[in-house]
Amino acid sequence: MASQSRTALVEDLMERFPQVPREAVIKEDLLRGGMAFDESALSGTADGSSGDVKPKSYFIFSFDHRTLPELGAAALNRPPEEIVLTGGAYGLRRTVVSVRVNPESPYIVRAGEDGALGLYLDGARIADVGLPPMPDYYRHTLENGKSVMEVAPTIQWGYLVYLTVFRVCQYFGAKEECQYCDINHNWRQHKAAGRPYTGVKPVEEVLEALEIIDRYDTTHASQAYTLTGGSITSHIGGRDEADFYGHYAKAIEERFPGRWIGKVVAQALPRDDVQRFHDYGIRIYHPNFEVWDQRLFELFCPGKERYVGRDEWHRRILESTEVFGARNVIPNFVAGVEMAQPFGFATVNEAIDSTAEGLRFFMSHGVVPRFTTWCPEPTTPLGKANPQGAPLEYHIRLLETYRATLEEYGLASPPGYGPPGPGRAVFSVSSFMDSLPEGTEAAEGTDAPERTGSTLA
Ligand code: SF4
Repeated sequence: MASQSRTALVEDLMERFPQVPREAVIKEDLLRGGMAFDESALSGTADGSSGDVKPKSYFIFSFDHRTLPELGAAALNRPPEEIVLTGGAYGLRRTVVSVRVNPESPYIVRAGEDGALGLYLDGARIADVGLPPMPDYYRHTLENGKSVMEVAPTIQWGYLVYLTVFRVCQYFGAKEECQYCDINHNWRQHKAAGRPYTGVKPVEEVLEALEIIDRYDTTHASQAYTLTGGSITSHIGGRDEADFYGHYAKAIEERFPGRWIGKVVAQALPRDDVQRFHDYGIRIYHPNFEVWDQRLFELFCPGKERYVGRDEWHRRILESTEVFGARNVIPNFVAGVEMAQPFGFATVNEAIDSTAEGLRFFMSHGVVPRFTTWCPEPTTPLGKANPQGAPLEYHIRLLETYRATLEEYGLASPPGYGPPGPGRAVFSVSSFMDSLPEGTEAAEGTDAPERTGSTLA
């Protein structure tokens, strides 16, 4: 009975929100609740350099619904980084979905009798599944034997090199860690499993891995890099946060000038620090605001509240537009945590109203936020208390609200995310890019004016 209702839920939402692409409804449901893998659909590699399928790299958080010891075969024999859905009962256009493993999910990826992989919901095949091929650059290792996947994994079907150069966060423990974040746990579980998982990545290793990617990425699929990791409240190797993340950008830009669009995900820092990011060659700045509501920000992001404070965080986001240009400041929020109990909003209406207020605040200043769909990881306080995540209806209505607000302010989809539009988007950890119409992007990686005149009409 319960398993029947998931299909009914999905189809009901597709019917009630026809303006949201069907692809996005399935994608959001997979992102919020995860997918199970039959052994026939695992990547066939444990270390990331063998096999034919590009494996899940655990690029920053676990993004799984179970810990590694609980994942069984999927822990020993990695699942793919992403899957691509097409066709099936809902006639899906090409949809790239980041893999979040949940052995209890009603969605299962497995081979059918003909050997072709499919996505099954409640036992019925609903889409064809493609797996990402192992990229040539993953087959090569660094001089010291480390894999490219460990040092410079790529996601979004190869578009983005994800450089988590600091694998832990200096906000540590219940009183400081963001309540939905498992960065520190993820580091511990990979160490405990004996996997290579470098805490601080040496610049030389990053450059060597990028050299390999540059050499073997002959189709130039890889177009951007993100420098990120945990927050730095003191120093690492004598460097504060701006200098620590910035010095990687400087080295990359000196070695590969303009090869990739440089992005950094960091705290909302004072103007001088933000200027240093820009001077180092970063072109897109992600000072994530996480959750809009004041009470929830204080409860869910206690470290950020204590060290910086919500109002100052927002002030710095707007101030950083003077350095980067408004359209190159793209703060993220974690879509769904607004509804995490016991503190979150009780109804979808309230949660959407609050988030819409935040979108309007930023978009009225020409700043286009983006979001990742919350994955309720089991070792986080919010994931533990809310293993089902947020209601699917919240995610669908958020897509609708996001697009409407973007249109209202005449803004383009943010740069550095690849193309928008169903069937074209590659951004894999939320379907906001799948839900925008084609042709709504501005040129990438430039300091062009933030307002484009509406191409969304
Ligand atoms: S600042 Fe919060 S979300 Fe970011 S890594 Fe630290 S604990 Fe996680």
